[in-house]
Amino acid sequence: MDVDVGDVTMDVSGDWQARKTLVECNKYMLKNGVACDITFNVGKTGTQIEAHKYILVCRSSVFHAMFCGPVAEKDSSVDVPDIEVDIFRSLMRYLYCDEVEIEPGTVMQILYAAKKYSVQGLVDHCTRFLQVNINIDNVCCILEQSHLFDELLLYNECLDFIYENAEDVLTSETFSTLCATCTEDIISSDQLFVDEKVVFESMLIWADAVCDNKDIERTDSNRRYVLGDLLYHIRFPLLSLSYYADVVSKCDVLSQGEKLDVYQYLCGSDPSGSVSNFSIKYRAKKSFQTCNRFKYTSENSDWAQKGKKDAVSFTCCHPIWLQGVVLYGSKDTCTPYDVSLKLLGADDIELCYLRSNVTTNQSEQTVNVYFVNPVKIFPKVQYTVEVVMVGPKSYYGENGRRKVPCSNVTFEFISSSRSNNSTNVFTGQVPGLIYSLWL
Ligand SMILES: [Zn+2]
Repeated sequence: MDVDVGDVTMDVSGDWQARKTLVECNKYMLKNGVACDITFNVGKTGTQIEAHKYILVCRSSVFHAMFCGPVAEKDSSVDVPDIEVDIFRSLMRYLYCDEVEIEPGTVMQILYAAKKYSVQGLVDHCTRFLQVNINIDNVCCILEQSHLFDELLLYNECLDFIYENAEDVLTSETFSTLCATCTEDIISSDQLFVDEKVVFESMLIWADAVCDNKDIERTDSNRRYVLGDLLYHIRFPLLSLSYYADVVSKCDVLSQGEKLDVYQYLCGSDPSGSVSNFSIKYRAKKSFQTCNRFKYTSENSDWAQKGKKDAVSFTCCHPIWLQGVVLYGSKDTCTPYDVSLKLLGADDIELCYLRSNVTTNQSEQTVNVYFVNPVKIFPKVQYTVEVVMVGPKSYYGENGRRKVPCSNVTFEFISSSRSNNSTNVFTGQVPGLIYSLWL
């Protein structure tokens, strides 16, 4: 018959070692303070926890250096004011028994303790727990901790989560608690899937929080001061002209020269180059919208692509940035197309030319081809997309529509006399236009 002694049961004869595993005996030794040779004064209260150097040295290189190194601790007690009692007990339990219970409320503190004493197995438990529990509310906190602890894998997982859920994270309360390095890694990324307006507004809130921490007034010049070079990661040229005029131009975070530069860019028609050190590169391409002009796609890929021109013209009712076009690919996903793509404006003036190799993705019938820089499309002006493809026979569209309403924009398609490979309003290549709103 056994008597329960905490986690370990004891033989009635008092022989607690009888038929116990090493782990069970370790647990008993720790719990009951048997033959301990070191005392830790833990937490702010200095609560005493006794342990065995043998186990600690055996499990942690930091304890090894502490007790066996050239400047080994000679005292029989060690102060640990920076770790709470429950957390230190969890650390001991892991060292003695390989057991750990991690909860959202304790994981960061356990990770801290595991890093402090270089217990990599416990670090791994914590980071795995964090990886599967990342959410909108805690991701900034986990990102900051992984920055602090130099946990690169976890850090990158947090960044990926933030890029995917950018709007929710950037508008969360915790975003403004991030350090400048973490913030820069977020807002400098091309992967950030969010409207630039959200980046601008979130960075103003971030700047206000920094002003508060530094105990300086929330003025535009102080905001600019605390933003420093982070300001140049806000892509002002990607804002809509109306938002820029109504909001950005009325505050003084930008200098007069920068304001004018961005304004001229937003009003002008030259999309090349950068604007006052602000990038004009669009972030995550999936934030673009697509206008699909065909109702159906052919079942077979038997549209000849032997170097003839497929062209279709269009107008739209609203100013947009044309980011690229959608092309039909082939069932043959191994052979690439040699694609020459032109965008022609009024009087067939060439606005953009692109040549690239394009391969069809196995799961899709179409491929997206993006221009290097977006092209401004003015309302009521007729443009023509002309494409020459050399490669395997492709799919093609059927039941094309003249008028295609998309969110905020209606496109009108017109057959082009430049086409000599049969593409027209009703059938053929160039199934879609990829765009973003300009105004
Ligand atoms: Zn950080």
